[in-house]
Amino acid sequence: MSEIENVVIIGSGPAGWTSAIYAARADLNPLCVIGVPKSTPSIVLPGGQLMLTTEVENYPGFPEGITGPDLMAGFQKQAERFGSRILTQDVVSCDFSTKPFALTTSGGETILAKSVIVATGATANWLGLENEMRLAMGGGGVSACAVCDGALPVYRDQPLAVVGGGDSALEEASYLTKFASEVFVIHRRDEFRASKAMQKRIFDSEKATPVWNKTVLDVLGEDSITGILLKDTVTGEESTLEVKGMFVAIGHTPATSFLDGSGIELDSKGYIALHTRSSATNIEGVFAAGDVADAHYRQAISAAGMGCMAAIDAEHYLAT
Ligand code: NAP
Repeated sequence: MSEIENVVIIGSGPAGWTSAIYAARADLNPLCVIGVPKSTPSIVLPGGQLMLTTEVENYPGFPEGITGPDLMAGFQKQAERFGSRILTQDVVSCDFSTKPFALTTSGGETILAKSVIVATGATANWLGLENEMRLAMGGGGVSACAVCDGALPVYRDQPLAVVGGGDSALEEASYLTKFASEVFVIHRRDEFRASKAMQKRIFDSEKATPVWNKTVLDVLGEDSITGILLKDTVTGEESTLEVKGMFVAIGHTPATSFLDGSGIELDSKGYIALHTRSSATNIEGVFAAGDVADAHYRQAISAAGMGCMAAIDAEHYLAT
């Protein structure tokens, strides 16, 4: 490590690696703190959420599609090619009250930095069922992103389930009606939380069926999902619904806990608040990119674009 880093990039999804590519090509010699590998998808992984995605068909430049891990390996290789340095640790706390900034890692090291790009992403919330995790990790038909996975051949003309009652769930359900034979929207209450416009889209669809007052008790199937076990929240009755895919859309949690006490401003949903049309946070010299600062678009390509912006903003900051 250098005595004082020009720029430290925290996170290694599309936003983190893209900012590394740009920062390295601008001769900033970036240090990328990419996180420690973990065995559960419910926490931030090196490589980000794409490490849990099988085929990525909507990332421009790959007309035949590419797997999420292959895409991330390519991002990393490109960042390394221009000299980005990598530290396989988590950042556990940040002190942005002093200049240079001080970051503490899970290995107990202190990194001093003139500028920081936070690109730690957000993690999809899961139901927390053992079989849900197993089938999500193994590409067995459980996913937290219909836009990423829903168009895969395995889901075409099949009955599918979406879990959740917010805008994301109904948007995902609506998207899936293009491919599926039928889409069940499993919700734990008897009314959706989503906007009226989104609800209308579901109620008007011939393929979408709301399944009210149900929670998911278990996901059935060995190598791939065959159905889900439901429990009625009113009667307590259990039932099985046969589906070939389950999309969990019960919200996301931005990975910001390591910023507690750092003074970084978060918005009302807990995402990093950015200045308009910029990656600047409320702290000069600290920038943010990707899903950690974006509750709305949450796509690999938009995160990569934000990573590019953050590197350019950091470069301008360091030059002034
Ligand atoms: P959300 O609005 O927080 O909705 C989460 C949904 O999941 C709720 O219906 C909730 O049920 C359900 N849920 C939460 N935990 C659950 C659990 N353990 N088991 C079963 N169900 C559970 O999250 P979101 O839909 O991801 O939306 C996040 C924000 O982005 C919202 O502000 C939304 O409006 C916005 N968004 C906007 C658009 C758009 O405008 N096109 C698209 C997507 C998202 P309850 O209703 O019972 O709490």
